[in-house]
Amino acid sequence: MMRKRIAIDMDEVIADVTPKFLDLYEDRYGKRLKREEYWGKKIYQINGAVELRETLQDKGFFADLPVIPESQEGIRELMEHYDVFITTAAMEFRSSFEDKYDWLKVHFPFIHWKNIVFCGDKSILRAEYMIDDHAKNLRTFQGKGLLYTATHNIHETEFTRVNNWAEVMAFFRKELAV
Ligand SMILES: [Mg+2]
Repeated sequence: MMRKRIAIDMDEVIADVTPKFLDLYEDRYGKRLKREEYWGKKIYQINGAVELRETLQDKGFFADLPVIPESQEGIRELMEHYDVFITTAAMEFRSSFEDKYDWLKVHFPFIHWKNIVFCGDKSILRAEYMIDDHAKNLRTFQGKGLLYTATHNIHETEFTRVNNWAEVMAFFRKELAV
């Protein structure tokens, strides 16, 4: 029997970009943003801060992002039952490829390169499950989508929401119990 597949996003699902944007904002504008100031959007969507998005093009931006807590243990456990693929829309940022690849090798060395998918439009992906922080990616996905909570998606109500990796694992333990 074929194992079911899970497509797992990188940024804001296993890699945390928020602390870096908070630092960049503080460096650029001299102010540490409070949660209520960026809650409901991306930090570069704050008035006047759109230039911060340009830093995503910088070599090294994606190289030193913190790992989202419990994602390593969670993915290890999921791999016992599912074929897990890391699916990241990397193509917009040319310099991100090597950074993202190296980052995965350091923090997720147990994921085989065959299970890493750098893509443009995620609607090309086919799997049974997708974990992503962007509702637009889940909207074009034909399997079961899990929306991983991020500052910019807190108002979305269309998808099953997971707030952290404990909730991801609770979801899949239930799936496996059926
Ligand atoms: Mg993401």
